[in-house]
This record gives sequence, structure tokens and C-alpha cells, in this order.
Amino acid sequence: MKSKCAIAVYGFGYLLMVSFPTHALDFSTGKWVDLTHPFNEKTVYWPTARTFKKTTVFDGRTEGGWHYSAFDFEAAEHGGTHIDSPIHFAEGKLTTDRIPIERLVGPGIVIELKDKTIGNPDYQISVDDIRAFEQQNGAIPPGAIVLFDTGFARFYPDRKKYMGTDQRGSEALPKLHFPGLHPESARFLSSERGIDAIGLDTPSIDFGQSRDFMSHRILLDKNIPCFENLTNLDGLPPTGFLLIALPMKIEGGSGGPLRIVAFVPDD
Ligand SMILES: [Zn+2]
Repeated sequence: MKSKCAIAVYGFGYLLMVSFPTHALDFSTGKWVDLTHPFNEKTVYWPTARTFKKTTVFDGRTEGGWHYSAFDFEAAEHGGTHIDSPIHFAEGKLTTDRIPIERLVGPGIVIELKDKTIGNPDYQISVDDIRAFEQQNGAIPPGAIVLFDTGFARFYPDRKKYMGTDQRGSEALPKLHFPGLHPESARFLSSERGIDAIGLDTPSIDFGQSRDFMSHRILLDKNIPCFENLTNLDGLPPTGFLLIALPMKIEGGSGGPLRIVAFVPDD
């Protein structure tokens, strides 16, 4: 089982690297899993950020007799399912439009941690958690996109349960409680595993009580993008799937709304 999973991950890496374009990826047998929350008036934003607004330009029957719909929307970059681009916390690093697509598409891994986070919203994912996963599934290969399933997606969009408070503004910040990645784990994954990107199902890669955002700073300084507010991670196997995470291409952006999906091939 151990070697089978490892082969599955490397297998996808192999397919991606060498068989395109002569052998297009086969998406005919397997399933797509959407890891994206919808954007609407309930979308979860950082307490100090502007929320999502959709307004109607026109929606109905035109004078000419045909149907026509068009809307405007506005939102902060960082809210709902979104990407943190390296420049968000690291001067001179990549903006959203400049992140290479190779970093946003690749073999995915899910590390499931519900046992650790249930009843402990201040949990920080440890290097031991990652090593325990590797003992079961093989070492995380370079170029992997690592996702953490804390189980917190089930609370979304109930902000009180999901992030500890439903208040808004800077006075809400000390009341934030949700799990995140310990800075030692950020260091381990970026320096010793050479991952391409990382994501989780909470509002931030640093836990809610973080004051220095150290995991952000470590990962983004290495140009490793972070995906936040993911969902449906429990619909994925631990390894052996392809991840595609394409943000809105905001020129000079520090982040942006993200459509992130996974393809899980049949065995
Ligand atoms: Zn963000």
C-alpha cells in the first residue's frame, strides 16, 4: 500500500512532465472534485477586509425579446477560496499574475488532521504530523502540492464556528481561533521537501492566534503560494490525484479569488 501510493503520486508527475502533448492526460475515467467555496454574500473574509458584493446591471428580458444577465462584483483579494501570492508577505517576490502555472498544477497530497483539531481550534500542524503521514504514504515528493484537511470546512460559512468570531473590524482580530501550520512545518516543507504550493481549509495558513504570520513569511519568501478557505478535502485520497489551482490573473496582485479543483483517476 505504501509503495502503491508513492507510485501513484510520482506517476502523475511523470505523466505531466513527459507525455504531453503526444499523450494528452486522460480525464475519461475518474472524478473531478471542486475544492472551491462559492462567492456570495456569506463568503468569509478577514475581519478587516472588504466583503464580496454582487450587484445587478441587468437581469431579465430585453426590449428586443431575449434574456440578458450581467452583474458587477467587488471584493478583497483575500477572502473565500483564494490564493496568497508570494508578494503578500515577501518583498520583491511573485505577484499573482507572475506565478508560474507549473506551481499551480501538479500532484496533490492531503494530510488529514481532524483528530488533532476537533476541540482544539488553536492547533498548529507539526512536523511530527507530516512525518506520520509520510510513514503511511511515502515521502512527500518535490513539486507536490500539499493540502491539510483540518475538518474546519464543515463550519463554513458560520464565522463564529469557523474562525472564532463573527465580529468585524480590528477589534475582532484577537478573537480569531482556527488551526494553522506551525512555522517549523513551513520550514520543513519548503526547505526539506521542496513543495510547489500548499493549502488548507481554514482562513489562513498561520493559526488564528498568530501575531507574526511566520508560516506565511517562510513559505511566501520561497515563492510557495498558499491556498486558503478550501473545501471538500475529505473527498480526496491521501495521494494519487492531480490538483489544478488557477487564480484570477490580477496584475501586480497579492492574492485573488481561486478556482481550485482536483482530478482523481480511477485505480
Ligand atoms: Zn490570504
